[in-house]
Amino acid sequence: MDFSLSEEQTSILSSVDKMISKFLPPEEVRRRDKNYEPPDFLLKHYAELGLLGIPFPEKYGGLNQKWLTVTLVNERLGYYAAIAASLYGTTIGFGGMSFLTYGSEYQKKTYLPKIIDGKLRFSLALTEPTAGTDAGGLITSAKRINNGWVVNGRKTWISGADQADYLVTPVRTDLGSSGSKGVSILLIPRKTDGISMTYLEKVGNNCLTSWDIGFDDVFVNYENIIGEENNGFRNLMSTLHYSRSCQASNAIGQAQNAVDITKNHVLNRIQFGRPLSKFQTIKHRIVDMQLRVDQARFILYKLAWLIDEGKRCRIEAAQAKILASECLQYVTHHGMQLMASYGYSLDSDIQRLWRDSRLYTFGEGANEIQKDIIAKEIGL
Ligand SMILES: Cc1cc2nc3c(=O)[nH]c(=O)nc-3n(C[C@H](O)[C@H](O)[C@H](O)COP(=O)(O)OP(=O)(O)OC[C@H]3O[C@@H](n4cnc5c(N)ncnc54)[C@H](O)[C@@H]3O)c2cc1C
Repeated sequence: MDFSLSEEQTSILSSVDKMISKFLPPEEVRRRDKNYEPPDFLLKHYAELGLLGIPFPEKYGGLNQKWLTVTLVNERLGYYAAIAASLYGTTIGFGGMSFLTYGSEYQKKTYLPKIIDGKLRFSLALTEPTAGTDAGGLITSAKRINNGWVVNGRKTWISGADQADYLVTPVRTDLGSSGSKGVSILLIPRKTDGISMTYLEKVGNNCLTSWDIGFDDVFVNYENIIGEENNGFRNLMSTLHYSRSCQASNAIGQAQNAVDITKNHVLNRIQFGRPLSKFQTIKHRIVDMQLRVDQARFILYKLAWLIDEGKRCRIEAAQAKILASECLQYVTHHGMQLMASYGYSLDSDIQRLWRDSRLYTFGEGANEIQKDIIAKEIGL
């Protein structure tokens, strides 16, 4: 096993560091979080550095590099700001990898170059008011007419939909079906007549906007289906390891930041005449925090390796998602305890990480369901 990074990976990460320190320094992350202002402008800088082309074949304008490189970049972006990694992960994961994995050649040629240029944004519109963890319970319907579909229904908690050019939307196209059968994935231009959007307020991830979306007789061209008709769930499942790896790398980046912030605080905060870091219980707690981050990171890198080798990775994708999200909650919880009143201040970074962390254990496939996946894979 070789854990070293290639020269190219090191150089890409250093260009990410420079770009973020110039355009999204910590004070800007704080300001945007307080003002609920997503840093959408970052996408053009990602494109300039070639970050959006990393996993895609050269014939579509990509760099044909390893998924491990995507993972490293996303982890580094997550270290600086969750939203910086979300922006990267969703553009590549939901958007690009969906087309690459199950899109038509026409769709790959049309959309991938624009994604790589940072010109297109996507949101996954899967969740519905009555279909969350049980995504197969979706009831948003698409009725076939001459040259397309008419979509009716409602999706909820859709991230970044206000900025998306397209909503990647699983809908029921076999109207008599139920469960995971009879579903297709439609690429719906967000600015289509009949789409209405309501902003949802929440406790964290202030820069990740959330929307409830109504579809009222929305017409979608037939060619806007991605993958085979009525086979949408299988297609969606075939890309989940990409999005789970993005979610996990984002969480691990944030978790490492939380450990570093806390460590820095206990090294400098004097109580009882010495730094907090001199007390053994505090040292041990920081060590436990770093231990969790490293455990999650090892599984994440193994997942990336399996993806690059084209090997089966259902267990590792689920493990990475669980370990990364639980580790993020663990380190931010203990970071808040060790930083006490300093952490509780709205001016601190640890409180933002702590609020944001709550999403990760249930978002992107709840951890309970990840455990079901692992249980099935190991024969339970
Ligand atoms: C900030 C935010 C952003 C989001 N972004 C998106 C997005 O971009 N696109 C999108 O489509 N969705 C998005 N979601 C929706 C998200 O994926 C769902 O919240 C998630 O799938 C869980 O569904 P639910 O909230 O309806 O919970 P429920 O399904 O009601 O689950 C509640 C609890 O019960 C547990 N549970 C459910 N079933 C079982 C079972 N069989 N066994 C054991 N435990 C079970 C769950 O694990 C969970 O802990 C987002 C949500 C949030 C809050």
